[in-house]
Amino acid sequence: MTIRSAASLSSLPLVWLLAAPAPATAQQPPAPAASVIDDARLRTPASGEWINHGRDFAETRHSPLTQIDQSNVARLAPAWSVEVGSQGKIETTPIVANGVLYGTSTYSVVYAVDARTGALKWRWDPALVKGGIADGAARFCCGPVNRGVAVYKGKVYVGLLDGRLVALNADTGRVVWAIQTTPVGSDYSITGAPRIVKGKVLIGNGGGEYGVRGYLTAYDAETGKQAWRWYVVPGDPSLGAEDRSMEQAIRTWRGQWWKYGGGGTPWDGLSYDPESNMVYVGTGNGSPWARDHRSPGGGDNLYLSSVVALDADTGRYVWHYQTTPGDDWDYNAAQQMMLLDLTIDGRVRKVLVQAPKNGFFYVIDRLTGELLSAQPYVAVNWATHIDLKTGRPVETPEARYGAKGARLSPSAVGAHHWPPMAFNPKTGLVYFPGQETNMLFQNTPTFEFEQGRWNTGTARGTAAAAASAATATPAPVAGAPAAAPSTPTPAASTRGFFVAWDPVANKERWRIDFRPSGGALSTEGQLIFAGQSTGAFQALDPASGRVLWSHMLDSGIATPVTYELDGKQYVAVMSGINGGKVYAFTLDGK
Ligand code: CA
Repeated sequence: MTIRSAASLSSLPLVWLLAAPAPATAQQPPAPAASVIDDARLRTPASGEWINHGRDFAETRHSPLTQIDQSNVARLAPAWSVEVGSQGKIETTPIVANGVLYGTSTYSVVYAVDARTGALKWRWDPALVKGGIADGAARFCCGPVNRGVAVYKGKVYVGLLDGRLVALNADTGRVVWAIQTTPVGSDYSITGAPRIVKGKVLIGNGGGEYGVRGYLTAYDAETGKQAWRWYVVPGDPSLGAEDRSMEQAIRTWRGQWWKYGGGGTPWDGLSYDPESNMVYVGTGNGSPWARDHRSPGGGDNLYLSSVVALDADTGRYVWHYQTTPGDDWDYNAAQQMMLLDLTIDGRVRKVLVQAPKNGFFYVIDRLTGELLSAQPYVAVNWATHIDLKTGRPVETPEARYGAKGARLSPSAVGAHHWPPMAFNPKTGLVYFPGQETNMLFQNTPTFEFEQGRWNTGTARGTAAAAASAATATPAPVAGAPAAAPSTPTPAASTRGFFVAWDPVANKERWRIDFRPSGGALSTEGQLIFAGQSTGAFQALDPASGRVLWSHMLDSGIATPVTYELDGKQYVAVMSGINGGKVYAFTLDGK
């Protein structure tokens, strides 16, 4: 099969603030304790560590390290690199624990390298079947991607494209346990990074384009035994609702949605607030996309395209905020959710911020789910605004495109996809890459569900997933570096950008032309790191967006992290669509 490098279309489904360095292992036995990644250490990572997917539970992706700063970033140079292999787009955020960098590559490959030297310690390849449906290979919408591992108490956890969750020995890469989290042979897949919450491994799934029912599951980290599961959308009502949230949700659906799965797959964003003991999950789009087919007669279709708060211990529903009621556009809200304490109108608010695909930047009270503000960060024509009284979008007349069709912004690629955002406490701004897009949405009146293929119910997507995925990579942008992207460019106009967003005022502070590839990293050295699809890996001034440093890598740069070992600060990132490498940079390099 052809491996698409797509910057994915995302959504395609497939799948506190800065804590001071803390003696998190104080109560642990002395010698081995220093190396144990436990709950206390995950909650309060030391300044030089990157042991959570988003560095901290709040997913701020801000590091307190300052050795590399604006005055010396020009001296940043390669310290080491190591080839770990890839067969498509790379989306990993590495974890750095105890001097070892753990990452993933395509087809759910996991690797461990010495974070000081780049020497490969081990590489684990699940040897997934590759190929098409006829081969029995795992199906996925957007390339055989993976966004990373979790590390906890001597184990490394990874979700596989075929729906398995695997625990590996962190020292050897040997399998400790492996469990199937999805029905065997189904059209689910996993591309997201697991998260560790109080001894449990949380993992979602993707597959919304194929027609599946999304859910989030927590497993005991030690044994792999299931602790709880929360379904995003209701199943067949005749079989009974799993919990009260499903009873509520059933009332918002019509027809026989369960035959098509309904969608809602939570394929990426997960956050945890230890104070509220809530887990926040971002949910996927409807399946099929067109609501007329999925839920004829309308309805909000809970809990599609929503931010949902769950009790971390039981998985019980607490509150939800639906960004896109009755989703018709693949506007999923599975994107990263960042937990911030912001002073708004003179009052400190514990908020959750998200920039989902639908083009609005949301600030939500994370204790109650109350919408505090929502403003568009791209040109949007499916809704005029979000009504703060009702919390709902005010849709434009053309939004429900029907069989007649309408050209809408954003497109199904979304205004912001999986690339993570970063927060800088000094500027108070949130940084992320995105794209201005539009496309023709058109209902397919003759839609018929067919297992094993895209089932969107729209003119786009039903014909060929390949054609759709090909539109995932943003087109060249005026003023961008000349190097051509290795992927097809979309028919519709697309313009990539990198933006600094003020979450208090909910408005833009600056924006530059940018060709999105991976996500952002913020450092206390007042640098924002991010890579472009051209291969340009860059450091930006958080205050202005000025490029302070740039280094060419292979096209397809994932998401950078930073860490410190032996008094030296490193910036590491994976790059390369074919033959992927991990690169580490230090002042003056090697
Ligand atoms: Ca999708």
